[in-house]
Amino acid sequence: MTKVLVLAEAKNGKLRSVSFEVLTVASRLAADGEISACVFGSDAERHSKELSKYGAQTIYIAENEELDDYTPDGYKQALLEVIEEMNPDVILTGHTSIGKDILPRIAARLDKALFSDCINIETDDGIIFTRPIYSGKAYQKKKVHDDVVIATIRPNNMEAVENPVTAEIIKLPVTITDLRAIVKEVVSKSNGKVDLAEAKVVVSGGRGVKSAKGFEPLQELAGLLGGAVGASRGACDANYCDYSLQIGQTGKVVTPDLYIACGISGAVQHLAGMSSSKVIVAINKDPEANIFQVCDYGIVGDLFEVVPLLIEEFKSALE
Ligand code: FAD
Repeated sequence: MTKVLVLAEAKNGKLRSVSFEVLTVASRLAADGEISACVFGSDAERHSKELSKYGAQTIYIAENEELDDYTPDGYKQALLEVIEEMNPDVILTGHTSIGKDILPRIAARLDKALFSDCINIETDDGIIFTRPIYSGKAYQKKKVHDDVVIATIRPNNMEAVENPVTAEIIKLPVTITDLRAIVKEVVSKSNGKVDLAEAKVVVSGGRGVKSAKGFEPLQELAGLLGGAVGASRGACDANYCDYSLQIGQTGKVVTPDLYIACGISGAVQHLAGMSSSKVIVAINKDPEANIFQVCDYGIVGDLFEVVPLLIEEFKSALE
């Protein structure tokens, strides 16, 4: 009987959609076993209904205002208490900035391996993880037989499937001590309403966008399609936009349904962050640009002509 624990993540008072995707993975892994979720913060209980809709049979809640914002020490203490309480065989969360930060700490504490950025999980006499390696150029499949298996799951990669159950809620009176970092204020750098890591459509700009103002049509296009704006490091380095928009090996990893790359050459480090997008459209005036090797649809042209045309077309189609 496999016992799976999912660390659910809330942002701006709402559960992140990756938490539902991870719960769906948990349902597959647990089979007839037990699926538990944990969620932290002073109003964490409000999320229990949604968590049970996606299969969480037991929900551990650490209602503590010191957990309202993520801190490595606070989350580590709370998660270790949940682990001690339920003794899971598998611990999962999203491959988000929090997931990437907390699970290595937990793995180190439990002296177990961590499988990060998994894009598929199967079972066959052990758990088999698929994860990208060499900046997404190849995929590694790894079968694990550990007594405790720890993994982060790439957002937007597996479909969240509802699996409603009646959940038992367990409140843990977690005492947080010795916080070495305290969050005083959270300042959002991205102006978009849609979270870049979870967006279904991403319109990205590179050095070809030429200026901060050059990003405005991209923002308009992303807004029309209900998506978010991303960028290459070239654009961030040139100060056209904030580094919080950077996609790639040293930026965010995205897997949207549609990725529109505007004025991006397609360096391997950029591809590492977006090559698993379901449909890739590239707009570049250089027909030899590497981005055309990975895209599904390529438009050789000036982005300052092509993007306004796309905006016009989508506007009339959406009317
Ligand atoms: P360029 O390579 O300069 O490409 C600009 C493109 O715009 C060109 O192809 C050009 O033809 C096109 N263009 C110009 N004008 C127009 C126009 N009017 N219309 C249409 N097309 C036009 N990069 C990342 O993106 N993400 C990362 O995470 C990342 N991590 C890195 C980590 C390391 C260790 C290193 C060494 C590099 C990393 N890089 C990363 C940088 C990467 O190698 C590239 O330098 C960067 O991706 C280039 O950005 P770019 O494509 O915007 O710029």
